[in-house]
Amino acid sequence: MRRLAGTLLVVAVLVGTSEAVMALDPAKAVTQYAHAAWTQEEGLPNNGILRLAQTPDGYIWLATMGGLVRFDGVRFVTYDKLNTPAIGDNGVLSVASDAGGALWFSSRQGGLMKMEAGGVTRLESAALPEGDYISALGRDDAGALWAGTLQGRLMRIGDGAGPWFGPSEGLPKVPVKAIVGDGVGGLWLATEGAGLVRWDGTSALALGKEAGLPGLFLSCLCRSRDGALWIGTYGAGLCRLAGGRVTSFGARDGLPTSYILSVAEDRQGNLWVGTYGAGLVRFRPGKVELFDSQKGFINDIVSSLFEDAEGNLWAATLGGLERFRDTRVTVYGRPEGFADDLAWCVTEAGDGAIWVGTGKGLTRWSGGSPRNYTSRDGLGDDLVWALAEDPDGTLWIGTKGGLTRLRGGTFRTYTSRDGLTNDRVLAILRGSGGDLWIGTDGGGLNRLEGGRFSAITTRDGLPNDTVTGLHEDAEGTLWIATRGDACALKKGGLEVVGVPAICFAEDPDGTLWMGTYGGGLVRQRHGKRRACTTRDGLYDDVIFRVLPDREGNLWLTSTKGIFRVSRERLEAFFDGRSPSVACIALGRGDGLRSGECTGGCQPAGWVARSGDVWVPSMKGVVRITPSPVRRSPVRPRVILESVSADGSEVPTEGGVRLGSGTESVEFRFTAPTFGVPEAMRFFYRLDGLDKEWRETQGARVAVYPRLPPGRYTFKVKVRAPDGTWGANETSLPLSLEPRFFQTAWFYGLAVLTLALLGYAAYLMRVQGLKVRERRLMAQVAERTLQLERANAKLEEQARRLAEANSLLEGLSYEDALTGVPNRRRFERVLDAEWRRAARAGQPLGVILADIDHFKAYNDTYGHQAGDACLRRVAKILAGTLGRAGDSVARYGGEEFVAVLAGAEGEPLRSVAEAMRQRVQAAGMVHERSPAYGVVTISLGVACVIPDEAVSQEDLLGGADAALYRAKQGGRNRVEGPIEVSAGTRDA
Ligand code: GH3
Ligand code: MG
Ligand code: MG
Repeated sequence: MRRLAGTLLVVAVLVGTSEAVMALDPAKAVTQYAHAAWTQEEGLPNNGILRLAQTPDGYIWLATMGGLVRFDGVRFVTYDKLNTPAIGDNGVLSVASDAGGALWFSSRQGGLMKMEAGGVTRLESAALPEGDYISALGRDDAGALWAGTLQGRLMRIGDGAGPWFGPSEGLPKVPVKAIVGDGVGGLWLATEGAGLVRWDGTSALALGKEAGLPGLFLSCLCRSRDGALWIGTYGAGLCRLAGGRVTSFGARDGLPTSYILSVAEDRQGNLWVGTYGAGLVRFRPGKVELFDSQKGFINDIVSSLFEDAEGNLWAATLGGLERFRDTRVTVYGRPEGFADDLAWCVTEAGDGAIWVGTGKGLTRWSGGSPRNYTSRDGLGDDLVWALAEDPDGTLWIGTKGGLTRLRGGTFRTYTSRDGLTNDRVLAILRGSGGDLWIGTDGGGLNRLEGGRFSAITTRDGLPNDTVTGLHEDAEGTLWIATRGDACALKKGGLEVVGVPAICFAEDPDGTLWMGTYGGGLVRQRHGKRRACTTRDGLYDDVIFRVLPDREGNLWLTSTKGIFRVSRERLEAFFDGRSPSVACIALGRGDGLRSGECTGGCQPAGWVARSGDVWVPSMKGVVRITPSPVRRSPVRPRVILESVSADGSEVPTEGGVRLGSGTESVEFRFTAPTFGVPEAMRFFYRLDGLDKEWRETQGARVAVYPRLPPGRYTFKVKVRAPDGTWGANETSLPLSLEPRFFQTAWFYGLAVLTLALLGYAAYLMRVQGLKVRERRLMAQVAERTLQLERANAKLEEQARRLAEANSLLEGLSYEDALTGVPNRRRFERVLDAEWRRAARAGQPLGVILADIDHFKAYNDTYGHQAGDACLRRVAKILAGTLGRAGDSVARYGGEEFVAVLAGAEGEPLRSVAEAMRQRVQAAGMVHERSPAYGVVTISLGVACVIPDEAVSQEDLLGGADAALYRAKQGGRNRVEGPIEVSAGTRDA
């Protein structure tokens, strides 16, 4: 026991480092982080994810039941039994990176494996006796990797594998579930059955109930920055070991379950706990927050938690992958206790509280829990469109059922019975003269003065009786936005303004901004009006609200969401100094729950005294903190993933050398980032061909369909959405051999031949024919010159053509609906593979897949659902072919085709079979599919060893015949491979 106390004491003296970088702000509710989820539908091979790891190049690696998966934020690349036989079986149990950045993982059959330069090698020296396998990988404090097994063996993985330690070193014969460094050169092991085990480098000591552990079945460990050790158990809750003492936490402390699967501490000090069946928990003794499937979490079994280099939190669940991210946006809606998700108007009270009018009541929020008011409290109606506060603190509330006043804690409502022309109140304004102006939906403009209502309507010259916005300018003119044109009420009367304004905002210098319905943003200065619309670069032409922040931007809200435009750029446009403006839009990736703002009432947005911008949206009221974003600490790194020539991948080490006759070259690149990966911009150029950098439209591929022979260097770089360039620029030399008639020696030979001919002629006629001889020589010289010129011209033409083609064709290689290659592309690939296989005398396989009863699917669920189904099937099929070079294309309608180089016989069939199984397993309901109730596919397979006697049509014909057999045979099955040869066709 004394030894035990000593062991535990050392833990207490450890102090972690602290780095202040953007991560998950502990002040936010878990529901307020931007979260995104990925499942099979998004390309995961399997929804069951067990572990996560990240390598220094930025990739995140997933140990899944469907293989090892690499993720760059956009694309999943799967390494499974089909494309990487070394893996042994698809159930990858653990994954970890070592201090040197290498990636290690394990499976039952494959043992311990290392991923290097795209290839997998097994570590044979780590082989285990029959029945045992690696159940955990973890790092010690020096960064060395350790493996623990089902039967309690332990090994250090250094340059090679060390010996397996076992019972003779005191290790209990129970599964090792987690391994972490203990801070003093040893390890902590979580075991299933023998509690916590400490490994001091030579021997093991197990700590159980006598040390204060509530249970012996442990699942996970996490060393906290203050030196404590967090321990998750199966059935006995969460424990913390610090200062030699174990403290247990359970139901009493708010934990929803005692079955804990994962625990992690992020750099902001949040402690995250993944449970078995109760979702994700943010745990602080005394404050427990739950995020489960009822709140939008993807699955309640959280097997692993992981914080990446950018500070995003990842949760691996048995239903997919989930990511949490902090942004400058915070949304408040029903999950945060607000009256409703649908928000219409927002204002700040004199005491700093925020008032929000929603579809189901009024909410007051001042930092803590919100307080809600409804018609039961005295509101005219639960639907609240308008708000305005008087200097004395009286709040005026425009509802669907009249105008409500809140003063001194009591509500009083005015309706048509009190003289209002219409009970639907959209806008309220306290005029400088003391009148209260009320804009209604159909009853024109009302005025409350001395307790009496009067009205201005179309009869008085108002363009329309629905009034959506009101503003009084510095000169005392009342600006009125109506559903028709806007108008201005001056001393001299009503004056119609030919602008369909919805709202107004005024600068201190008297500039008036008008947001319009369909006419963009209008600036009025010194009596001159000008509009900025989508044609000038504005993000949307409907502007609900104009909100100037303190950073020099205008925030504009619209049916398409929220966007920001720099005031300087905007002024430059309006003053004619710049032809256009640039907008930065916020999207779901920034944490918005809806891409649509609300408006047509007042105030549809507010700038608080803190500088925060508040915007009502279809899903919650959005709070934006406009101060410069805390930048992600990690700059993206661009990676050139692969180069393909005519559809097949080529090695890139030391540059790429392509043989003569190569036509199209394709470069695939990426930059693993996980914030808003879709907003990354890639720029590339092929030195020797491109004069300038080209920007991809979000795609991570560059295609040069007809590259002329020559020497080139391919370069690519990346830019983050905030304008920062990536940390690197990659470049790769590439050369393409000319064909024989394009070579210099051929050209030289041609000239020489000509010259020799000339010389021969000269010799023949040298006697007395000096004149003709001279003429002939002149001709030779001229021909040579012509030849040179023609050649140069041809080269130039080829270059231009290639440039134009790569622009055009690069875009039309994809099938618009499913995103997989289209038929055109397929034909090119097949053609290239065919020639390659013919040259090498190797087989070539083709799989044709056709969705079963798809017409019935369309008829039952509609064409849109049909399209979604096509997309999903395409994804599944593409996901099945993990090997680079193999690709699935849309053959037409609901048919897909894959070409597999070097494949025949059973291996080829098994790929098709995997496709069939995966589509069925996806479980897309199809009631009218007679036998299975879900969407299925039929597949026809054919292969060939290409030669003169057979054609590509024969191969496709074979696959088609096999497909026909599959349909005849009852569908949802694979037929073939039919081996195509001259004989089969004739038969
Ligand atoms: P079978 O099992 O024999 O293949 O039956 P099927 O109904 O799938 O076969 P059929 O070829 O008669 O019908 C194919 C249907 O696919 C017809 C058309 O409605 C649908 N289809 C083709 N292209 C598209 C598309 O782009 N989108 C959608 N939604 N449906 C498509
Ligand atoms: Mg069909
Ligand atoms: Mg069909």
